[in-house]
Amino acid sequence: MKNNKWFALLSLFFLPYPFSACGEEKSSRYDLTCEYSAESRSLKGTLDFTYYNDTKEEQNVLWFQLYPNAYRADATYSPVSLIHKAAYYDGESYGGIEISSVENCRTYEIGGEDKNILFVTLREPLKRGRTSKISISFTTTLACVEHRLGVAKESVNLGNFYPVLCGYDEGKGFYECVYYSDGDPFYSDSAEYSLSLSLPKSYRLACSGNQERREEGDRAQYLVTGKNMRDIACVLSENFQVLEEKVGDTLVRYYYYKDENAEQTLSVACRSLEYFSEQFGSYAWDTYTVAETGFCFGGMEYPALSLISDGVEGTARLETVVHETAHQWWYAMVGNNECEHAWMDEGLAEYSTMLFFDDHEEYGVKKEDMENVARNAFHSFCGIYRQLFGEVDVKLDRHLSSFVSEYEYTNITYGKGSLLFCCVEDAVGKERVLSSLKKYKTAYSGKNASPDQLVSCFPVGAKAIFTSFLDGSAVI
Ligand SMILES: [Zn+2]
Repeated sequence: MKNNKWFALLSLFFLPYPFSACGEEKSSRYDLTCEYSAESRSLKGTLDFTYYNDTKEEQNVLWFQLYPNAYRADATYSPVSLIHKAAYYDGESYGGIEISSVENCRTYEIGGEDKNILFVTLREPLKRGRTSKISISFTTTLACVEHRLGVAKESVNLGNFYPVLCGYDEGKGFYECVYYSDGDPFYSDSAEYSLSLSLPKSYRLACSGNQERREEGDRAQYLVTGKNMRDIACVLSENFQVLEEKVGDTLVRYYYYKDENAEQTLSVACRSLEYFSEQFGSYAWDTYTVAETGFCFGGMEYPALSLISDGVEGTARLETVVHETAHQWWYAMVGNNECEHAWMDEGLAEYSTMLFFDDHEEYGVKKEDMENVARNAFHSFCGIYRQLFGEVDVKLDRHLSSFVSEYEYTNITYGKGSLLFCCVEDAVGKERVLSSLKKYKTAYSGKNASPDQLVSCFPVGAKAIFTSFLDGSAVI
């Protein structure tokens, strides 16, 4: 879709210019223009990408993750594991992404381990501190699947739907990750975003960032903007109802179609946003959106947006909302390589959930009980794995490829990951843990942190605890 006149006018007020004539832009920028067709289950779009080279090296080839390609028929790595095959509620269904052109580059090709990377060779090598603009035209086709990207029964999930620049490590380069079914195989750097999205008028949009809606004929034109976000995602539904509440300067919106306790869901989202802002440091954006949707897991985090499965109810729903809200600090604001160090954001999100319930007795969820459940489940897991395989790998700091099941991934990254922070709390006290997490958030908000950088924010006495959990020698 091309911007119409209304959008051109609106952009004068809402869109900062991509970069100055002198190329002084200090972060990369995604300008997406997309049109969704419900009939063909596809999203046709253009990404005008302004790359700002903030690395120490000259860059010649940019790497983009093509996550939608994991949903294609011949994918080596399926995003949906066997135990979640019911997510394909209508039987086999496939999707993918086609790149029809890349403009203002020397060459481009699709490669990587599983057709998951778009390599774009720039017209000329780009020096540090300089910007380059390319334009990628693509069509993303959605499978009928209740997953991060797909047409669900009552909603449409648009997670990881466009080419996104791979995370970058100094000295190593761009980081490739295939779509492992266990865990969140994502690693990207923060950037500026704008998304012009055209939908059939019957749909309402829940999304990362601020949104403006305008109707034109049988279409709804949305303009979504966000700053300092490492990704952008949306959920569409023809059945959405909306509740909202202001928390400080942040507008919290809850989009739902089935939830019979919607007021309570919105309330726990607001209270946890408030609590984490006080404990860890302020929330980064003007809006926080929670969307109920068809989803085979409990929930999923994106910057300023959480997806909550319409299949979770009661206390599980409350815990999921708090966990996903905690991810706004541990993933969305402070990022980490989720393929290599999933425990960093999952362990912290789960531990933060325990802290919230510990200070909010009215929900009837006790930190002590959550801790015991995690410990007992971990011991059972170890026993079962020893019986099955003769040994069990209990290292916390592991690549996603090392997990053979969701059961193992959950017990290690969520269970043992949260117990690590409980153990640190027992050793140094809650106040010092909270001040350490505040320090961590302040130092790395808008960036990606390494395990060493996280550990360095804690008192020196906690270092041995971290080491023993990460290398698997801790007895819990
Ligand atoms: Zn999580």
